[in-house]
Amino acid sequence: MDITYTKRLIPASKRMALVAHDHKKADLIDWASKRIEDLKPHRLFATGTTGTLLSSAIGLPVKCLLSGPMGGDQQLGALICEGKIDVLIFFWDPLDAVPHDPDVKALLRLAAVWNIPVATNKSSANFLMNSALMTQDSMIEIPDYEAYLSKRTSKV
Ligand code: PGA
Repeated sequence: MDITYTKRLIPASKRMALVAHDHKKADLIDWASKRIEDLKPHRLFATGTTGTLLSSAIGLPVKCLLSGPMGGDQQLGALICEGKIDVLIFFWDPLDAVPHDPDVKALLRLAAVWNIPVATNKSSANFLMNSALMTQDSMIEIPDYEAYLSKRTSKV
């Protein structure tokens, strides 16, 4: 699709979403436990089960949305569309089927549409957290929604 882009600021203190499927929760908690100091400057969001476990394991506040299968992935997707999530760390399970697979796809799709940094496993999460941009303001390119809408409405 022919689309034009604009920019938005990703602030130094980021709104980070953390999600892990059931067989990946221990991995995410282990990863986050080793990264407490790196996570501290950021605001953490998570799906319900991940966030509750994470917050008690690492002792940082986590804004818990609904549990993933109950709509939490969709809530995160909506926040991404509204520019209210800056980074997504999503340890999804490639070896297990989940009942909310369409929501998982939708979350990853919206993260791609809105061009936020995404890590889907431990090594990409490490690369992301080690990036100098994690502690700096930076600009990302996002779809120019106003232009998109005016193009579509002018066709009718
Ligand atoms: P949960 O949801 O943190 O509530 O387990 C995660 C998911 O499956 O998307």
